[in-house]
Amino acid sequence: MKKVVLLLCLLLFGNVCDGFDIVYPKSPIVNVAANSTFFIGSSMEPLKINGKDVPLHPTGAFAYVVSLPEDKNVFTVESGSGKKVYLIRKIIPKYSGGSTFIPYPQTRFYTVTKDISPLRSSPIDDGINRMAHLQKGVNLSVDGEYSGFYRVILGKEQYGWIGKSYVKPIKQTDSVELKGYDYIDNDEYFTFVFHLTGMVPFEMVEGDVFLMKFYNLKDDDIYEMNFPVKEASGGKKLIGYSGEYQGNDFVLKIRKPLKIKRKCPLKNIKIVVDAGHGGQEEGTTGCLGDKEKDITLSLAKYLETELKNRGANVIMTRESDIYVGLQQRVDITNDNDAVVFISLHGNALPDGSDPNKISGTGIYYYYPQTKPLADVILNTMAQKLGTKNRGAIQASFAVVRNTNALSLLIETAYMINPDDNAKLVSPEFRRNCAKAIADGLDKYFSSL
Ligand SMILES: [Zn+2]
Repeated sequence: MKKVVLLLCLLLFGNVCDGFDIVYPKSPIVNVAANSTFFIGSSMEPLKINGKDVPLHPTGAFAYVVSLPEDKNVFTVESGSGKKVYLIRKIIPKYSGGSTFIPYPQTRFYTVTKDISPLRSSPIDDGINRMAHLQKGVNLSVDGEYSGFYRVILGKEQYGWIGKSYVKPIKQTDSVELKGYDYIDNDEYFTFVFHLTGMVPFEMVEGDVFLMKFYNLKDDDIYEMNFPVKEASGGKKLIGYSGEYQGNDFVLKIRKPLKIKRKCPLKNIKIVVDAGHGGQEEGTTGCLGDKEKDITLSLAKYLETELKNRGANVIMTRESDIYVGLQQRVDITNDNDAVVFISLHGNALPDGSDPNKISGTGIYYYYPQTKPLADVILNTMAQKLGTKNRGAIQASFAVVRNTNALSLLIETAYMINPDDNAKLVSPEFRRNCAKAIADGLDKYFSSL
């Protein structure tokens, strides 16, 4: 008891910290779900954690990994006359036990209650196992459940999965039929309008031949349309598409090849530049106390200038320190019919990793059509900035998943790695970063 009172006193009154700043852990008492965590911050003078010297970067920044052997771990950070005490509790969630599939004796019927409801290929809430995003009003036939998911009948022996919170039960509806489709040709899009008698689950699969599928039609039928998009566009790459129900019609739009001016490949290309985070949503805090929302805004402004100089039509999702929701960023991109969406971020790491050992630039994309652009930009950045190339990785972030453009999320460098952090706080590095991204875009569009 005495020990606990003493600790509380230290936590409440003992935290004098002149000359040093700790940005992570974010408060003196935290819970961590890992066997190790780290202290991130900066100091003007030599610094010790539990009596051990902490190596400081020339900027004063540090990242220091500590293991958590006990359920409750106390750390004392000391530098000069300053001292701060931390209580870090290790709380690792226990495995809740397995689930089993529960088949229903009779098919049940549900309807999707909100837009962008993920239809998944497996009953796990996992990033990239999404087959499609269903709109409100799509009707589903369900034959069982597993954990928090319903199993959706797509055809004979073919299934998808939907989270229970996305649907509500309905009475059985008439089977849906596909009556045919119209093809509409214009300068910008290959457009197909499929006439259905109701809204059924669907899937769009990218490739040289674009595959449009409608599931659970009358008599367990699946309809497939193969559109040789590469052939139809003269061997060009896929550069964006969208599909949605408008009433019972499903409208599929595939962007036609762009008219690229060889000397000025970004001329008139509509590019959304997205400064990550903003307002009360600050993002990660860097070793030196810098905020991700400020770093990304600065990067975005440099990129805006760089792209405008090359003739691009740039749209910014924010130009000041304001909060912009993820869906708002998506809407700005889709409403403007942008060709490219670039979200700018500074990276962080979870508890259990070592921020001193991980650095560099990484790019996330969701749709395979974006991978070649991600590769070109990433290679250009790593080469011109001298940052470690962490690869282009497919991941399910809302801003890259829900936008119809070629959408990327760029993690320029690590906010909590002392070397990377020193780069990010330098305006020159940020300007070069913007230049490298623009060079990558130039290269990609001149190859189209
Ligand atoms: Zn971020």
